[in-house]
Amino acid sequence: MTENKGVWVYSEAHDLTIEMLGKGRELADKLQTELTAILIGNNVHDEANELIRYGADKVYLVDNPALEHFQAEAYLGILHNLAMTYRPEILLIGSTRNGKPLAARLATRLDTGCVPDCARLSVDENRRLIGERITYGGNAVAKVTFKSQPQVATVPARAFEKPTPQTRNGQVIKLDVKVEEPKTQVVERKPLETSSVNVEEAEYLVCCGRGLEKKDDKALLEELANVLGGQVGCSRPLVEDRKWFTEWIGLSGHKVKPKLYMACGISGVIQHVAGIRDSKIIVAINKDPEAPIFEIADYGVVGNLYEVLPALKDALKRQLQ
Ligand SMILES: Cc1cc2nc3c(=O)[nH]c(=O)nc-3n(C[C@H](O)[C@H](O)[C@H](O)COP(=O)(O)OP(=O)(O)OC[C@H]3O[C@@H](n4cnc5c(N)ncnc54)[C@H](O)[C@@H]3O)c2cc1C
Repeated sequence: MTENKGVWVYSEAHDLTIEMLGKGRELADKLQTELTAILIGNNVHDEANELIRYGADKVYLVDNPALEHFQAEAYLGILHNLAMTYRPEILLIGSTRNGKPLAARLATRLDTGCVPDCARLSVDENRRLIGERITYGGNAVAKVTFKSQPQVATVPARAFEKPTPQTRNGQVIKLDVKVEEPKTQVVERKPLETSSVNVEEAEYLVCCGRGLEKKDDKALLEELANVLGGQVGCSRPLVEDRKWFTEWIGLSGHKVKPKLYMACGISGVIQHVAGIRDSKIIVAINKDPEAPIFEIADYGVVGNLYEVLPALKDALKRQLQ
């Protein structure tokens, strides 16, 4: 391997950058090297000191009005330039809709490898990054390492805990980088029509699957979620087939990590379970005692959700009064 140095993190998503700084700090300390955050955008200089508080030794800041919105070519050009100039050893990129293709294109330009969606990261005695990612529909974990540098990996949201901010010293280096003229033009921007519920942030989640018979019966879950101070979510068929919700939980949907996850009328196939396995406590309500959800549930209720949910809500209400 060449003499590349330092661990870098970059994401256009602020919270994800902070989560990666936590992991990046651990890797950098192990490698006895610097941790650098890349900050790109317009009027973002105030964020730089925050990134230092969260663990960065150095922030490369590229602040330019032309970078107000994410533009693949422009951002790619900047990251490529920086990586060619300062040659990091490890480059972690947030696994967002923008970040995934960005990482793949950057790795291609740098003639190096890219491991997507690493839920775990470590380094071995040869300073090689090892990424672990869920594969085969959630049935296996692949451990992948690198033969070239920089070692580019993408990191999904909530794979790593946010570190605690500290009073620290660091260097903010403002770079005057030429912004590549984009080859595409954004004609219109409009917000995606999604539910106002952010299931990934919820601490208590009450979720339904095909066991729910009618759309109006969502009220049963909403009432229980209200008592818990939580949110309602669902399995994929309730979005794709029934169109009762706009977002689902699972391998191809949102990955959640609540304190309490309640699966009501959800069978618990692997594609769903891949999105909930990091929940602290899983409670399953299912009328089929053989349902696979019971294999991963901490508490299971074999019963009809139409009877169990109202009874549970009343009991909780009494308890919390
Ligand atoms: C590539 C791919 C990606 C996928 N990604 C996802 C994903 O991200 N998330 C996801 O959820 N799915 C995903 N799926 C779909 C997945 O394979 C399952 O089809 C889906 O998760 C099943 O949803 P369900 O558990 O709600 O329905 P079912 O499997 O039909 O289960 C319904 C359950 O409800 C129980 N039930 C019925 N009535 C009651 C009642 N009155 N009271 C209590 N229990 C009752 C039944 O016993 C049954 O166990 C994916 C599929 C593919 C092919």
